[in-house]
Amino acid sequence: MLRLLNYCEYKCHGVLSIKQIKKKIFITQQISPTLTSKLNDNNYRYLSTTRAISNSYFYEDKQNQRFPKHSQIVIAGAGILANSVAYHLVINGWNDVLVLEQNGIGSGTSNFGSGTLGLFKPVAHRKMISYSLELYKQLQADGHDIGFKQCGSINLAQTKDRVIALQRRVAYNKAAGLHCELLEKKKLKNLYPNIYTDDIEGAVWVPDDAIVNPKLVCMTLAHIAKKGGVTYIENCHIKRVNTNPHDKSVKSIVTNLGNVTCEYFVNCAGMWARDLGLKCHPQVNIPAYPAQHFYAITSSLPECLSSNLPIVRDYDAHSYVREWSGELMAGWFELEAKPAFENFNIPHGDWARHLMVEKSHWIPLWNKIKHRFPILHELSEPTVINCPDNFTPDGRWILGEAAEVKNYFVAVGMNGNSVQGAGGIGKAVAEWLINGESTQELLPFNIQRFLELHNNKNYLQQRIKEVVGRNYGILYPHQCEYKYARKLRCSPLYSVLENHGAVFGIKMAYERPLYFDSTYKIGKKKPIMPAGSYYKPKFFDFMKEEFQACREGVGIIDMSSFCKIEIKSKNTEVVDYLQKLSSNDVNIPIGSITHTGMQNEHGGYENDCMLVRKSENSYFMVSPTLQQTRIYQWMSKHLPNDHSIWLTDLTSYYTVINVVGPKGPALLSELTNSDINLQPFSYKIMNIAYASDVMVMSFTHTGEPGYCLYIPTEYALHVYSKLIDIGRDYGVRDVGILTQRFMRIERFIPFWAEELTPFVTPFETGFGHSVDLQKSFFIGKNSLVKQKLNGVNKRLVLFILNDLDVNKDVWAWGGEPVYRNNEFVGTLTSCGYGFTVDKLVGLGFISRPETKNHKYSMKIKVTTDYIMDPSAVYHIDIAGRLFPAKPHVLAPTALVVKNKKYTPTPVNFII
Ligand SMILES: Cc1cc2nc3c(=O)[nH]c(=O)nc-3n(C[C@H](O)[C@H](O)[C@H](O)COP(=O)(O)OP(=O)(O)OC[C@H]3O[C@@H](n4cnc5c(N)ncnc54)[C@H](O)[C@@H]3O)c2cc1C
Repeated sequence: MLRLLNYCEYKCHGVLSIKQIKKKIFITQQISPTLTSKLNDNNYRYLSTTRAISNSYFYEDKQNQRFPKHSQIVIAGAGILANSVAYHLVINGWNDVLVLEQNGIGSGTSNFGSGTLGLFKPVAHRKMISYSLELYKQLQADGHDIGFKQCGSINLAQTKDRVIALQRRVAYNKAAGLHCELLEKKKLKNLYPNIYTDDIEGAVWVPDDAIVNPKLVCMTLAHIAKKGGVTYIENCHIKRVNTNPHDKSVKSIVTNLGNVTCEYFVNCAGMWARDLGLKCHPQVNIPAYPAQHFYAITSSLPECLSSNLPIVRDYDAHSYVREWSGELMAGWFELEAKPAFENFNIPHGDWARHLMVEKSHWIPLWNKIKHRFPILHELSEPTVINCPDNFTPDGRWILGEAAEVKNYFVAVGMNGNSVQGAGGIGKAVAEWLINGESTQELLPFNIQRFLELHNNKNYLQQRIKEVVGRNYGILYPHQCEYKYARKLRCSPLYSVLENHGAVFGIKMAYERPLYFDSTYKIGKKKPIMPAGSYYKPKFFDFMKEEFQACREGVGIIDMSSFCKIEIKSKNTEVVDYLQKLSSNDVNIPIGSITHTGMQNEHGGYENDCMLVRKSENSYFMVSPTLQQTRIYQWMSKHLPNDHSIWLTDLTSYYTVINVVGPKGPALLSELTNSDINLQPFSYKIMNIAYASDVMVMSFTHTGEPGYCLYIPTEYALHVYSKLIDIGRDYGVRDVGILTQRFMRIERFIPFWAEELTPFVTPFETGFGHSVDLQKSFFIGKNSLVKQKLNGVNKRLVLFILNDLDVNKDVWAWGGEPVYRNNEFVGTLTSCGYGFTVDKLVGLGFISRPETKNHKYSMKIKVTTDYIMDPSAVYHIDIAGRLFPAKPHVLAPTALVVKNKKYTPTPVNFII
């Protein structure tokens, strides 16, 4: 009954607010009158001050449990993540849940950790951490002593660039409502009298940051979940997950204690999650691997020191310090960490004994802590613990439903941020499972952002070495590429582009030229990315040359990383299928191309793609690089059951070269026997030089005129060489992805995962023209019809920063808050230099500030009149300085290129 009631309530209100959570905690306490008294009694209070906790106190009946035959949901592991998922399922009325733990509850890495909660983070993380903090605060207020203290944090900068990094964070966090302020040294000393400040350039105070006891949070969530009906079975090792062959959905879980059938499985197995993922058919790829992670605990501090000391993050020393029961706990995010269990499999039990604590390793780290806290010179040596923690190839959490197996959910790869993430993640994953879709923006954390190669153990052991340190590194935008585990996916042009001075970056493990150092000479040392900067990039002049080629001559861009899928049917079923998935009309003539979104039921983007009609019954789809796993899975989910349509991933079959610029047509016409005058958005298969079967498409991804060549991979080098040789006469130049990026921003072209996400619709991005509401049906049509009628609550705007001195000022790079008449209205999503306007430009969504107070009203719609109101004054906060910004709802007309007719100088065509 309660379950039904809670579920109905959930369905009516959608995402739960903190207030609702409080109510649900109250309800949970009502089901279990013993809960409150147990958690309030002295024993429990005593436990909170000790590090060793007996699980049997909470789970005295574990010996009597019988192994169930079925459970709607099975969760692997009983760490803080699993318990938070279970807890959030319960408060939503889903309590047919079984948690299986190979050892004891909280016996994994949740037993360790420093328990710091930091809100001063990028927005995507901050929302979840903020929820966790409120939840833990509420648990503490309700009598669960989890060691919650809102002690605040001090975030130190030892360098000028770090100060800028902190100022940028203050700008966007402050706008989003977080109290954070830059500290004068005097105030810093007041907050933390014993800290050494002579080498400090700046600091930020975040009063709302907090600390908890991780183990107690873990146990408390488990306890409430259990009281709400969740079954916990300890000493139960999951050996395998079986799937239903017909639809590849979760079927049953095989354990040492027996088998249990289930509808959903949630893998929260921490550092064991990857191995468990492999024990399934098909295998589930969960690319997370543990790194050694050290922390130290001092002896007792003198009593005169406050017990409410703030957390201190000394980013440039890669360390943090918190107060812990009258002592200090210090930990490190080392610049270069060591993978744990390097030469053998992660043991299921007694794993801690495999982790060495070598004095020679920690003494240099400890000396840096002593330098910052001179009082530690007076104390004896600390106790140092080596505990593994799970890291991912890009340092972001791994959440959501696996691509390989239906109803197989994952919440792992916490990158040292799980205690703070656990509350929000548990809520997000529980809601995702219940609703069949995520109820909040989780694209950056989606498990489907990876390929199988990311799950290779050697790859992970290499990559995570540097991921650990990036937690506290200065991540210069577009200038902080990974150093390890590179050159995995390379286009056939890689070596030749390298010889042309390419400096590469990666996306989806694909090496893509970021820019070309035109001063490079073969035989000299290969160019590398110079030290990062928040100001004008040091390689800017190369980018300017690249733009010039695209604007006046020919630019050649290797775009091979884009995802390519062929969609075919026996007859014309494919047309109906794609019409259902696409918001634009895709029943186009053979030989044409259409740009379309694929939307979800709410009208948000699931994909942004080009669909090429190859024949009556086949299409070729080009989607963003990051979508390779995700969109294949999404489209597979929508395939009809009769197997009439099949999808083939052709990403590796074609090398893609963008030929951009006014002289492109002349250059291509020299290289082919075919007529190159294609209608816009059409394609033709033709020869380029001696290569046949090249698909030439008349669009570029830059907003400039030109072509995209889809070249069968074995011809790639030949075609590229001819373009460069013959193109010399046309001012040909290699162009990198960064210049292409700046060009698309200036041309108001929104891009996947930056502007386009499942929570953004075409009408909000100004791409309503690519939606065909006359079509009888497509997914999301109803929502878009309504939105067109009612207007939008947010809208993408292009801003030009006329007063920013690009040579002297810090640049906007994305994430900067936008103010309209001094009110915060939105955030920039992507920024770059507008080569045509010679100014910094940025795209960002704005909404009306009143939206916060009124949920749904005609009055608060964002209209063009509202955006362009001449009395409205816009400013963008870049690292604490406000710059006036001019809004545009379309690419400024000044940017439209006049495609001048060009007559080439004849050259000999030598093959
Ligand atoms: C030194 C250090 C400092 C940290 N500091 C912080 C901090 O300040 N803030 C913060 O937010 N986080 C911090 N963390 C991170 C955090 O403490 C842990 O990463 C986190 O608790 C992990 O939670 P989990 O639930 O993902 O994994 P775990 O607690 O390891 O849970 C996974 C569980 O799954 C079980 N399991 C695995 N395989 C199977 C199987 N096949 N069958 C059954 N059960 C299985 C395991 O036994 C285990 O109990 C820190 C970590 C370390 C090491």
